[in-house]
Amino acid sequence: MKLLNQSTVLNMIRLKEPISRAEIAKLTKLTPPTISSLVAELIEKNLIVEEQSTSATSGGRKPILLRINYSAYYIIGVYAAAEVIRVILTTMDGKIVTDFSKDITELPTKTEFMSMMIECIHYVLQTAHIERELILGIGIAMHGLVDSEQGLAIFSPHLHLENIPLKERIEKEFNIPVIVENDVRALAIAESWFGQGKGVSDFICLSVGRGIGSGIFINSEIYKSTFYTAGEVGHTILDVNGPLCECGNNGCLEAYASEVAILNKAKEELKNHQDTILTEWLKDNSTELSLNMVYKAAKKGDPFAISLLEKAGQSLGLAAANMINILKPSKIIVEGGIFEVGDFVLSQLKKRIEKYTFKSSHEEIKVVCSELGKTGMVLGAVTLVLKKLFKA
Ligand SMILES: [Zn+2]
Repeated sequence: MKLLNQSTVLNMIRLKEPISRAEIAKLTKLTPPTISSLVAELIEKNLIVEEQSTSATSGGRKPILLRINYSAYYIIGVYAAAEVIRVILTTMDGKIVTDFSKDITELPTKTEFMSMMIECIHYVLQTAHIERELILGIGIAMHGLVDSEQGLAIFSPHLHLENIPLKERIEKEFNIPVIVENDVRALAIAESWFGQGKGVSDFICLSVGRGIGSGIFINSEIYKSTFYTAGEVGHTILDVNGPLCECGNNGCLEAYASEVAILNKAKEELKNHQDTILTEWLKDNSTELSLNMVYKAAKKGDPFAISLLEKAGQSLGLAAANMINILKPSKIIVEGGIFEVGDFVLSQLKKRIEKYTFKSSHEEIKVVCSELGKTGMVLGAVTLVLKKLFKA
């Protein structure tokens, strides 16, 4: 009970800072003596600090105000993607102190994958020179299916790994509490704390990279389902006779609009499009077609490259429209490199949403790009720990 009250007070300070003790008592409905003792403990722990107000109250006194001491403690965030492990160390406001990434160049075994992650965290701890006691926790945003309750990576379709005991292994190694979540759900949590989802009670975060996933916020909480695997929009079917997906089914959204799918499509159709600038760039046979080349060509106005991106946008728009019709969120936040090339993907996605969502006239669903960008997932890992600290 006491710890719960302490978190309530701490979160109230976070939301309303700078704030006086009297104001906290009023807002939390806890008694002034209780607030005084809880605040004293938080000051003792260095989690909050006092400051003198610049404006006086009606009685002429300048009240003492309280603020979170964001730089007193640190959090480690780990983003485990299919192709990279990124570890950051931040202060409690998400400011990055140390940032380290290691590429995954070939398919690792379960043990190799764990060792890599452990090595990266050790490296960041050593570089940052911060006492272990000052680290509040380690958050891990892991791609694929994740059981956040057990801290277990159930399945990574890209690395072909199953049942990786992330929480157990990392806690044992570092003796620091660990929280694990799926990467896109972590991204959505980061959006709700730091980004476009701040103050929004219901939104969907749609992430497009090597895979496609979504994080669903309902009533200001991330939706996980009993099985912890909600939001796999990448494997909703657009056409049962469509191209083969990495999951083994045919016609999944991912087989149309993931980075891998776009690149494969580009390679496949290139020979039928002699008029594209890409043919020119590949003429000497020394380079292989890459997604960045497609992006660059689209930016230069190349019709072939643009049509590839627009088609991906249409597929994403169709899946997004289906999700909207079921959940009716007030906002869609899209994230991924393909949205940063220009408006090609987003404009088509918006068109499809406009055309295929069933809505009454007053409903306006905002579709926006994430401002957290590439840092979103790893910052989401940090936010897992913050949410626990503030019980928010
Ligand atoms: Zn699939």
